[in-house]
Amino acid sequence: MKPEDRSVVRRSAPPASKTTPLVTPLFPSVVYCAEDADALDDVYEGRASGYSYAREGHPNASLLADKISWMEGVEGGIITASGMAALSAVFLALLDKGDHIVAGNQLYGRCLRLLTKDLPRLGFDASLVDAADVSAVEAALRPETKLLLVEVVANPTLRLADIKGLAKLARQRGLIFVVDNTFTTPRSFRPFDLGADVVVHSVTKLLAGHSDVTLGYVAAKDEARNTALYDAVTTWGLNASPFDCWLAERGLNTFDLRFQRAQENAKALADHLRGLPGVLRVLYPGEDDHPDRALARDLLQGNYSHMVSFELDADRAGVNAFVRAAGNIAFAPTLGDVGTTISHPASSSHRALSAEERAALGISEGFIRVSVGVEEIDLLKRELTAAVAAASAAKA
Ligand SMILES: *Cc1c(COP(=O)(O)O)cnc(C)c1O
Repeated sequence: MKPEDRSVVRRSAPPASKTTPLVTPLFPSVVYCAEDADALDDVYEGRASGYSYAREGHPNASLLADKISWMEGVEGGIITASGMAALSAVFLALLDKGDHIVAGNQLYGRCLRLLTKDLPRLGFDASLVDAADVSAVEAALRPETKLLLVEVVANPTLRLADIKGLAKLARQRGLIFVVDNTFTTPRSFRPFDLGADVVVHSVTKLLAGHSDVTLGYVAAKDEARNTALYDAVTTWGLNASPFDCWLAERGLNTFDLRFQRAQENAKALADHLRGLPGVLRVLYPGEDDHPDRALARDLLQGNYSHMVSFELDADRAGVNAFVRAAGNIAFAPTLGDVGTTISHPASSSHRALSAEERAALGISEGFIRVSVGVEEIDLLKRELTAAVAAASAAKA
């Protein structure tokens, strides 16, 4: 370019390089420039691959979606701004006014709110049932039921959904079977292999793994449904930022290592907690004392993931003492971070429920959920031993 044609405002092409970056480049651009109108036509009509406007897709979202889709064994997954955005896309894309939803009664709290408060306002009705009980799900079906939504492992009680039974029911009754695979991740469970039609993730949690992005993922086995999901994400503006996708894709590089270590730690901690005075019960899927151990063993095949819940013999004062004595483990109402976090459902995720409603789910004041991270196991055992002892001392 001639010097008189230059301007600091005009972007220059990157310098020529025979070498390429090792690391995934970040593409913050909102728009993509085309050679001419015909070239733009080609992209819009799918005759050529390319991007036009970031709400409709960008390379960082494509790269991240592609990795998760590969893990799930599906094609055409879509990245959204959060797990809730992915769930919203499912309802907005796949339902029509008047359609009825049947969903697990222990879903993620915001999802329960969406189903019971917001969707009815828009003309979709939902019934909530125990997802471990196929006959309860069947009894909740209506002629207008179109969609069945469950999580594989429920928060915070770690109950299992009867995925095989539900998949069969969904097939018989022509329902769209949607599985939220956040807690299990594709390394513990692959819903498409057992008959799910749509899989949803909060990528915010284990997949991204560092508590520095909110992101979601949704994919359908059926191509027409994937197109509908893509259109909903693009039209309702549920898309994700390139930087978040870039961070999450970077996080995935270590996913297998993080998951394996966190899972080993969780199993060891469950065994350790069970032996501590002041711990009334421990919940870890697949263990002999877990209410859904048979389902857990059949579905998860030994990969029981990284969540451990347990019940302290404690009131609020005991819980406060526990949390303060576990001071080096973050007390934070999230999960899936690389480091261990503890949460207290009665004052966070399940605070909107009455004490009776919580009791019906088995969530007492002393109920603690641990999202186990990748720290040294001896450190975690020491910290939790001290915290449980502090809770017991507060009771005495
Ligand atoms: C966190 C979570 C969600 C919501 O995801 P966000 O990324 O927070 O919007 C949905 N389902 C499950 C099981 C979750 O844990």
